[in-house]
Amino acid sequence: MKRIAVFPGSFDPITTGHEDIVLRGAGLFDEVVVAIGVNTTKNYLFSLEQRMAFVEQTFAGHSNIRVAQYEGLTVEFCKSIGAKYILRGLRNSNDFEYESTIANMNKSISDGIETILLVTAPELSHVQSTVLREIYKNNGDISSFLPKGIQL
Ligand code: ADP
Repeated sequence: MKRIAVFPGSFDPITTGHEDIVLRGAGLFDEVVVAIGVNTTKNYLFSLEQRMAFVEQTFAGHSNIRVAQYEGLTVEFCKSIGAKYILRGLRNSNDFEYESTIANMNKSISDGIETILLVTAPELSHVQSTVLREIYKNNGDISSFLPKGIQL
């Protein structure tokens, strides 16, 4: 059976940190699905269409990486596409606290879906969408933190 991993997030916007985790994940799994969670109460900087397009553009040419969107629980989305793994990245101890709680919860409320945590590349550990959004809103240049070729 195909080993599928879901990499969930809002990707507002996708960064070089996300890109690194997905590319490394694609070497470990048969397929990685970058899954953009749609939360109707959340305000995003980039539209869903833009965020999808940025992700598609980043991984064009990688046949085992695709992008999808979903609403609701990540584990339900995983189930709907036959994915038994969730892929996440770990930047620091804050990420660890948060990710380990969510990973155990997701395992408990699903049929044992495992979360695989990849430690960030040290040179990318400071790259964070939230911070990039602030810089961008204040007219700063964030292009070096985005995958190559993405034009905002
Ligand atoms: P959201 O998109 O839900 O706001 P994030 O962008 O914070 O969430 O993160 C989505 C996933 O990507 C998380 O697992 C996070 O740890 C990981 N991630 C984000 N930035 C990096 C980075 N620079 N290096 C490694 N992993 C990262």
